[in-house]
Amino acid sequence: MDWLERTAKLRQWSGNGTRAPHKPLLLLYALGRFQDDAQGELRYSAVESDLQRLLTEYGPAHRTTPAYPFHHLVSDGVWEVRTDRGPGSPGSGVRELRATGATGRLAPELRDALRREPSLLHRMARMLLDRHFPPSLHAELCEAVALEPEPEPSELRPMVPGRRQRDRRMRESVLTAYEYRCAFCGYDGRIGAVPVGLEAAHVRWWAFDGPDDVENGLCLCTLHHKLFDKGVLGIGEGHRILVSQRFAGHSAAAREHVVALAYRPVIGPQPGTRPVAASHRTWHTRQVFQGAPRPGGAG
Ligand SMILES: [Zn+2]
Repeated sequence: MDWLERTAKLRQWSGNGTRAPHKPLLLLYALGRFQDDAQGELRYSAVESDLQRLLTEYGPAHRTTPAYPFHHLVSDGVWEVRTDRGPGSPGSGVRELRATGATGRLAPELRDALRREPSLLHRMARMLLDRHFPPSLHAELCEAVALEPEPEPSELRPMVPGRRQRDRRMRESVLTAYEYRCAFCGYDGRIGAVPVGLEAAHVRWWAFDGPDDVENGLCLCTLHHKLFDKGVLGIGEGHRILVSQRFAGHSAAAREHVVALAYRPVIGPQPGTRPVAASHRTWHTRQVFQGAPRPGGAG
């Protein structure tokens, strides 16, 4: 059994660039719990709130329930569910899962494989992160599911057949296009000649076929990169900054650094370079941006 291949195939459920991180999040969570207790079972009613929190924070903007992956992950061969009545999942209904005492755990063959080959756990986790989330969220996601960081250097990451490689020049061309300035706030800090706290963000995530292209990039400071990848910030018509109504923050700093950005024009890119393409902007608004934008001019 090639467990990495099975892990990669979860991707099939998120075709057409639509994010469906339900199963990847459940599997990451289950791997984290396995690392902590290889015998443990996850009772639906006990882990429901954990999973809901993960889905709310890292899932799609629309409301969704952890009952769906808890039941459907079984069909991928990596997960099994049993109830007080015996083996088998009662379905994807929240009430059934609660009432029947449904518990889930990694499939027995997968648990055996993980015991035989402990590095498999990190390779599976790495694949789930790479395929479903942008790098800026990997470390915090590992924390959120209590996964120990992988010990191996990045060169040993699993190579997936046919997988594209990131273009390392993307960062340089995006930062140059935006003249080493955050496209949202204008931050342009450096130590000597070296920019600090500035990053090249993918608008359409690399994991969802977002190209390594200036048209798909933004130079953002670390804070705005994180908020962009979490759907607090977006880009709307006329290259204006969108701020989610779901964002709350009453301090002067939160108002100044986030709320006040609503409908301000994106800064850059410099003349002669292409701004963010409409198709990538739209993907981000539909798949990542959280809820409705705040009206402008109130900040
Ligand atoms: Zn910024």
